[in-house]
Amino acid sequence: MKIAISIDIGGTNTKIALVDESGQILKKSTFLTWTGNSKNAFFDHLFSTINELVSPETFHQIVGVGIDAPSCVPAEGIIKGASNLPLKGEIPIVDILAIKYKKPVFLCNDANAAALGEGQFGNAKGMKNFVVVTLGTGLGAGIIVNGQVMTGYSGLSGEMGHITAIRDGRQCGCGRKGCLETYISATGIKRNFLAQLAQTQIKSCLDDLTLNKITAEKIGIAAKNGDPVAIKSFEFGGKILGEHLANYVHLFEPEAIILAGGLAAVGEILFTPTINTLFENLLPNYIDTVQVLPSALGANEAALLGASTLVFNKKEPCQQP
Ligand SMILES: [Zn+2]
Repeated sequence: MKIAISIDIGGTNTKIALVDESGQILKKSTFLTWTGNSKNAFFDHLFSTINELVSPETFHQIVGVGIDAPSCVPAEGIIKGASNLPLKGEIPIVDILAIKYKKPVFLCNDANAAALGEGQFGNAKGMKNFVVVTLGTGLGAGIIVNGQVMTGYSGLSGEMGHITAIRDGRQCGCGRKGCLETYISATGIKRNFLAQLAQTQIKSCLDDLTLNKITAEKIGIAAKNGDPVAIKSFEFGGKILGEHLANYVHLFEPEAIILAGGLAAVGEILFTPTINTLFENLLPNYIDTVQVLPSALGANEAALLGASTLVFNKKEPCQQP
């Protein structure tokens, strides 16, 4: 059996899995990306977690390592300028892992990995034109056009989270203002919620929580339980997302838009305002050509599975040492 080590580096968690060619996750583990707060601590955790998963007998079945991360340059094999990771400057992650494990190592952007996973194993199986919008700490997009991942000139395409949603709007972590992810992402939903709370006399069941105890997950649960302020937070974010997805459909005409990531798990509270606004803003010709779907893969597994396809398919967007 051939096995890939898949590594999904996120702003909150880093997930590692052993995946076979059929997309079966054989073993899986997670650690907090910021534990130790430094590059060295991150790699110590990464190596020790891999050691726990890979027994000496398994090691000879490993055919490669697939990594996905935000802020990476796949063609150079580096992570660069990552504001959400304890990996500052330029980190030659492909070389570091290739030297450590003496196996081929492949790297791609996290949202592109999610798109590869959905395309091979998920709801976009068999589709040649689709987009996967990942709604996590931030917002990313993996774009598949004519069966190929759209990487852009150097692998940086798909930064949908930093499209300007509202001119001179909220301050974004990237330094700009009004970026889409400041309105719709886990952090965006929290900001929507606090803004709604400041504007209304209506009570929320989360009123008594201190600021750092309020999370997108809790707002999602409150919304499902009928909390009006929480519901409005998702309506506001969903409408902004729907408008931008309409722009996207006019440009690329995808067969499907898949909303993936932790925030999308809230379901129809987010999907309904997003889909309604999308279709309100579409030219009539497009209305029957596009569908909005949830991810069919397990919680946040799309990117892990996508990273494994880099190893097994050994094609762009990859970096082989
Ligand atoms: Zn931004």
